[in-house]
Amino acid sequence: MELWVTEQQNDDVHFTIRVKKTLFTEKSEYQDISVLETEFFGKMLILDGVIQTTTFDEFIYHEMIVHVPMFSHKDPKRVLVIGGGDGGSMREVTRHHCVEIAQWVDIDAKVIETCKEYLPEWSNSVKDNPVVHLKIEDGIKHMRESQGLYDVIIVDCSDPVGPGEKLFMYDFYRDIHHALNEDGLFVQQTESPFYHRELIRSVQKDVRSLFPITRLYTANIPTYPSGLHCFTIGSKKYDPSSLCAGRSLDFETRCYTPETHSACFVLPKYVRELTE
Ligand code: SAM
Repeated sequence: MELWVTEQQNDDVHFTIRVKKTLFTEKSEYQDISVLETEFFGKMLILDGVIQTTTFDEFIYHEMIVHVPMFSHKDPKRVLVIGGGDGGSMREVTRHHCVEIAQWVDIDAKVIETCKEYLPEWSNSVKDNPVVHLKIEDGIKHMRESQGLYDVIIVDCSDPVGPGEKLFMYDFYRDIHHALNEDGLFVQQTESPFYHRELIRSVQKDVRSLFPITRLYTANIPTYPSGLHCFTIGSKKYDPSSLCAGRSLDFETRCYTPETHSACFVLPKYVRELTE
């Protein structure tokens, strides 16, 4: 019998993928977790019916959410990842040799445990890295209790429903602002410029009211709704639209390059309108 999985992207659009086999499925305290082996996209993590990451295109998402903010800062020593339970963002953070503390905060221990077992390619390299500190905690609480601690904060969260809902609200961005050093910056994945226009507008408005520099950039990620994905940056000092002076790419990448860094901020008019 043929097996297919369907992600409901909105009331009128569904995305359906052929499945080879189900590797894992369980309900945690916070969400439904599944890991599937698919015919075309390889392994796939799904939380509450929403695709989070796949073998096929995870490198694009993780390189673009991490290296754009990291290479925008002169010397990111203390870095925080909120969410990112699959480990891909933390893997990319630890490729920057200047990092002394890489704090990782995810609300759901079961996602971390499942990904370690079924998606080891994402997080194997961070397993015994002494700079990485994992804390199972709500990112909202962690931000409320942190002050002037971080150079870069990466919010690699799930969609604004369930445990991720409050991660898209003004109070969270205000707490991020407090948690950053005086030259700090943060990035958050902010969904599709086709399907989530109001969300992007509202995040832009909140971030702009707190940070002197607010930017939006995009990347093509085939397994995310519409294939075009947005990222929002709030920065206290550095303009992220090109590599920071003195920084250079000194490791292998598959997507990110200094040219990609500058180009990803060049927005088509219909996307730029979301920032105005
Ligand atoms: N790249 C993905 C995307 O855009 O779909 C996100 C992937 S990552 C698996 C999302 C993570 O956010 C999950 O591990 C989930 O447990 C975590 N998460 C959701 N709400 C959270 C919260 N309030 N605090 C910390 N982590 C949270």
